[in-house]
Amino acid sequence: MRKEKRVLPEYYTPIYQMAVTQFERAACKLDLDPNIWERFVVPKRALMVSVPVRMDDLSVKVFRGYRVHHDNTMGPSKGGIRYSPSVNLGEVCALAMWMTWKCALVGLPFGGAKGGIACDPTVMSRNELQKMTRRYTAEIIQMIGPDVDVVAPDMGTNEQIMAWFMDTYSQFKGYAVPEIATGKPISIGGSVGRTEATGKGLVFVIMEAFKYLKIDPDKKSVAIQGFGNVGFHTARLLYEAGCRVVAVSDVKSGLYNKDGLDIPAINEYIKKNKFMEGFKGGDHISNEDLLEIHCDVLIPAAISEQITEENAGRLKCRIVCEGANGPTRPEADPILNERGIFLIPDVLANSGGVTVSYFEWVQGLQRLFWKEKEVYEQLGEVMRSAFRNVLELSLSRNVDMRMAALMLGINKISEAKLARGLFP
Ligand code: GLU
Repeated sequence: MRKEKRVLPEYYTPIYQMAVTQFERAACKLDLDPNIWERFVVPKRALMVSVPVRMDDLSVKVFRGYRVHHDNTMGPSKGGIRYSPSVNLGEVCALAMWMTWKCALVGLPFGGAKGGIACDPTVMSRNELQKMTRRYTAEIIQMIGPDVDVVAPDMGTNEQIMAWFMDTYSQFKGYAVPEIATGKPISIGGSVGRTEATGKGLVFVIMEAFKYLKIDPDKKSVAIQGFGNVGFHTARLLYEAGCRVVAVSDVKSGLYNKDGLDIPAINEYIKKNKFMEGFKGGDHISNEDLLEIHCDVLIPAAISEQITEENAGRLKCRIVCEGANGPTRPEADPILNERGIFLIPDVLANSGGVTVSYFEWVQGLQRLFWKEKEVYEQLGEVMRSAFRNVLELSLSRNVDMRMAALMLGINKISEAKLARGLFP
């Protein structure tokens, strides 16, 4: 390969670097074709847009928005839209790359994409959020389409945002195009089971890990960082399955009770008070403390880069199951591995969301809708078989579960890329 000094591109931020480091570790193990390697470490295309919104006070505020396609070898690119103040090009590019490996690992005919707007949705009115979503859709419209790129919820977005997105796209086309977005309300073609799909997927792989590690699930203790869509549904489902959810947290603070927290009561409390702070029924803890709690399963389901070189040595759990995307820094991986902590990596653990998104897209294209039983059975099958494949490779190649998951995903698209060849 020709070696020349390169100027780093603008998306080369610490989080993007983290995605590249993970990729390169796996690519080395795979002895990946260097030409394919070159193509995987860069996004395929990235769009930055300005999204002007007339706010409720009548002033016009301009938000920064992005949509990035990392890959589209196997089909349309797929990925969520994130509304968060931290959104920037590097973050969206990293998340798009992770979507590529995730879709390939679980065998979906999708490439990876991600989008986002740098904003704080918690301080915006419904009216402002609607206008921002519609204008963002219009701004990125050349880059999306049911066969091109399909959007979904991510941090800070939900089914209402997807409904506005779908409606705006459909207005431009002149007819309803439900398959442009997944994670929509059921009334406009959403799939049953999509809302809790990521949480359900997490529970499936945790149960598989229990089986492999010969842990009896009864009363096992779980600590969950984050109480958004992923954190809440995971907590609820594990609580219903008889686990002891000993700690949970939201952006502001956390709760701890060694005998187990009352998850439905916390949910009711949050509906009234927005945050869990002040809930009686647990001791106050911080988000950082939560990570170091003594428990069987630790589930980081909030934001990226939470488990680091600094705190990895202090974790006191048997299993880390990554609900969030990128919650563990690459320097922490070998520390967890050495300490015998069993890691279920993000691209495997949280892939239930995009898997049911795929079911939703298929149902939309066929105009034929499935029953809950079918969604959950198929999801269970996908998750369990992905877990088994990753575990098998991890044991046969003596690598941790993250490496094995990435190797499987990367290898699949690499084969497809080689088969298609390079145009022109
Ligand atoms: N945002 C979710 C993820 O990171 C779901 C993506 C999708 O359903 O397309 O996996």
